[in-house]
Amino acid sequence: MDIQLLIDGAEQGASGGATYERNDPFTGKVATRAAAATAEDAVAAVEAASAAFPAWSKTGPGERRALLLKAADVMASKVAEFTKLMLEETGATAPWAGFNVMLASNMLREAASMTTQISGEVIPSDKPGTLAMAIRQPAGVCLGIAPWNAPVILGTRAVAMPIACGNTVVLKASELCPGTHRLIGQVLVEAGLPKGVINVVTNDPADAPEIVETLIAHPAVKRVNFTGSTGVGRIIGELAGRHLKPALLELGGKAPLVVLDDADIDGAVNAAVFGAFMHQGQICMSTERLIVDEKIADHFVEKLAARAASLPAGDPRGHVVLGSLISEKSAKKMEELITDAVSKGATLAAGGRRTGSVVEATVLDRVTSDMRVYSEESFGPVKPVIRVKGEDEAIRVANDTEYGLSAAVFSKDVQRALAVAARIESGICHINGPTVHDEAQMPFGGIKGSGYGRFGGKAAIAEFTDLRWVTIEDSGQHYPF
Ligand code: NAD
Repeated sequence: MDIQLLIDGAEQGASGGATYERNDPFTGKVATRAAAATAEDAVAAVEAASAAFPAWSKTGPGERRALLLKAADVMASKVAEFTKLMLEETGATAPWAGFNVMLASNMLREAASMTTQISGEVIPSDKPGTLAMAIRQPAGVCLGIAPWNAPVILGTRAVAMPIACGNTVVLKASELCPGTHRLIGQVLVEAGLPKGVINVVTNDPADAPEIVETLIAHPAVKRVNFTGSTGVGRIIGELAGRHLKPALLELGGKAPLVVLDDADIDGAVNAAVFGAFMHQGQICMSTERLIVDEKIADHFVEKLAARAASLPAGDPRGHVVLGSLISEKSAKKMEELITDAVSKGATLAAGGRRTGSVVEATVLDRVTSDMRVYSEESFGPVKPVIRVKGEDEAIRVANDTEYGLSAAVFSKDVQRALAVAARIESGICHINGPTVHDEAQMPFGGIKGSGYGRFGGKAAIAEFTDLRWVTIEDSGQHYPF
């Protein structure tokens, strides 16, 4: 499939005429051929968004709400197209693609409902006869940069609330799923958004640094949001800082699932299996560390290993739970993590085999801090169990990471679990639920190396508007001189 840029409502090739190919990670065949934007194309996309801003920012909430609700329906109707693209470009399974389209449609609906919630306040002023207000105004052009792993959700998240707040947007697609991200732009165009409100840029991977810097540096760009790795997040944060553009950074994770000695073990195993292996563990909230009290660890690991071993892995088009990883390189990294851990004393409790870009659901028991899988984000289906002695050690290990996105605590004593949750350093923490969970209206985001800022519901209004102080005063007021 050939993918073109979306600039000012029109499909167009790159100004240099160049394209690049994205291959299916499972079959190796070409999945999409996408326009390889030049820096001039990036500038054109920002300028189209900038030209559309004055009119769009003045639309009433009802108009924006109607268009976003329409977009949600258009998106839901394209589930087959999205699924085909996600399977071919990223090796995902159909259920993961279907979930992506469902949640992304809900994000558009939630953004639609937020259009009437962009409120301000009246603040008592010390000046007689003065009405002082704090009001929220759209910021301008918002740049969104999204990754491939939950492409419909994260590409939509990057633009939905900015648009709802009256901004115009440029979405920089992931090089690994240009077709999927471009289709989000198409959805919004078909829903009837005025031209230039949404623009989508695809680029050759080699050009990413230049394209991204060009976009961030453009004076019309007033906000940057980035979802991706912590390594690139630091580059984005530095660039945004240099140009004094506020940035929302949603970065990597190493989510702990803490199983205390009084946990419902079956409940914890079910949550662990889902949170660890959904989408092959390639979710920022994926359970990356199973921190288990040694009193119940044998029982927990036995059950978890049996469940993991029963999960079919293979061709994403077949009846599997685990499809392909994003690349064979990523699958080989899983082998390295397994070899490293086993050579240092870990036990392989389940899985361990790789076939091309597919890796089985793998559980490594008795993992210690000297092993790579203890601290590195695997972003795959290789999961360490770390046995701990009591609550304090569980919390210490849970916090022994550069990341702080999602977490979970299992205990039948909710007061105890709440106290543990309060001491875990993460943006998100679920008691007796999996680390993987997202809903459009929730404040989603991390701390530490997982970034800063919040997508979702009301929290996002603050990210994508300028809060202004406006007064109405008495022109006859007194001055000291
Ligand atoms: P990535 O950081 O490798 O790539 C993301 C983007 O960065 C791409 O669009 C790419 O063009 C751009 N980029 C790459 N090099 C660049 C450079 N030198 N300068 C400027 N831009 C550059 O991330 P990925 O592999 O696409 O996604 C996986 C990562 O995303 C994981 O770490 C995962 O945890 C994280 N993630 C986080 C969340 C969250 O909400 N916190 C959600 C999903 C994924």
